[in-house]
Amino acid sequence: MKKNTAAINPPLPRRDPYGALAMPVYHCAAYEFPDHQAMIESFTGVSDDPDYSRVTNPTVIHLEKVVKSLAPGARDVVAFTSGMAAISAATMAIVKAGKKIVTSRHLFGNTYLLFTRTLRRFGVETVLVDLTDLQAVKAAVDDNTAMLYLETVTNPQMEIADISALADIAHEKGAAVVADTTMIPFVFTNSKELGIDVEILSSTKYLSGGATSLGGLVIDYGTIPDFDFILRKDLLMNLGGYMTPHAAYMQTLGLETLLARYEVHERNARKIAEALRDFAGVEVCWPGLEDNPYHDLAKRQFGGRYSAMLTLTLPTEKAFYIYIDKLNLVRRATNLFDNKTLAIHPASTIFGTIDPQTRAEMDVSDRLIRLSVGLEDADDIINDLKQALQ
Ligand code: PLP
Repeated sequence: MKKNTAAINPPLPRRDPYGALAMPVYHCAAYEFPDHQAMIESFTGVSDDPDYSRVTNPTVIHLEKVVKSLAPGARDVVAFTSGMAAISAATMAIVKAGKKIVTSRHLFGNTYLLFTRTLRRFGVETVLVDLTDLQAVKAAVDDNTAMLYLETVTNPQMEIADISALADIAHEKGAAVVADTTMIPFVFTNSKELGIDVEILSSTKYLSGGATSLGGLVIDYGTIPDFDFILRKDLLMNLGGYMTPHAAYMQTLGLETLLARYEVHERNARKIAEALRDFAGVEVCWPGLEDNPYHDLAKRQFGGRYSAMLTLTLPTEKAFYIYIDKLNLVRRATNLFDNKTLAIHPASTIFGTIDPQTRAEMDVSDRLIRLSVGLEDADDIINDLKQALQ
């Protein structure tokens, strides 16, 4: 089956007594066993019958299995309550005190703070390099490096690195390659082929089907010894953070329409980028434009998909504040890939608690607006963006 057919028609693990077409929401904390033997087998992992919903739940397992079937080469998928829960659990399954993370300054704000603040308290060192400079990466990755971490399209700089080249450098030193692929739906990228060992995404975004719920997925490509055991049997059990059954239900539905919705998201992003690129005083950044410096790399790595996020840079920070308050249809809100088009000034919000010098080093410009392009009619979005610019 093609991916859109498979996403809409995944097999259910058992026939539902009522013949439900969708996997029902098992909103219970615990499960009863027919006898003590079945109970022992469940708790010791001999059977995969559920015991307790903090670590296993039929509705969540169903989502994990559908995602796994759409990610070629995946060994396991684990669903968490949010993208950040997925990022922190996957990272803690790989690094330990005394080990090093090599990553970029161009990171989502909370990921940046997780590495440089939270994990530092636990004795993990993070080295920040330009991941588009392969010589600098080679110099930074050493025998003590446990993980090379990247965002496949960085938020909000929209930088794209050469993933296979980075993976070669990391693997030569025995480091794991972990990639956040939130910005382009995972179904378009063959992550394993690119050398990614562990893929992470915030399923709050494209997958949830219109910002219905929070979630995060860890897709394990089976290349790191013990990773699956540590993630599921150690961290998930001891730290918690499993996705809730209700969120899993909504995200399974979201996955059914992901490919259809994405076509419209990206078509709208293209129309907006093309309509605004010649507007005096505005700089448009979107990798789908042929003159974007990352266009060829994006085309090669992400199956010709370029994301439904774009950025506009205005001449001054003041111009930005006037601009964003003039928007009528486009919402002033965070989040990405809602059905509604959203605008935000990352420097004063998502990165607002990071000091101005660090923010400048992260290339989060005071003059930059992040647009998450929704599913409205493109003409209506363009008219609103243009009237505010005018
Ligand atoms: N990664 C990226 C690239 C993001 O943009 C975000 C959130 O905006 C996250 C991770 C975190 O995801 P969540 O908000 O689901 O925790």
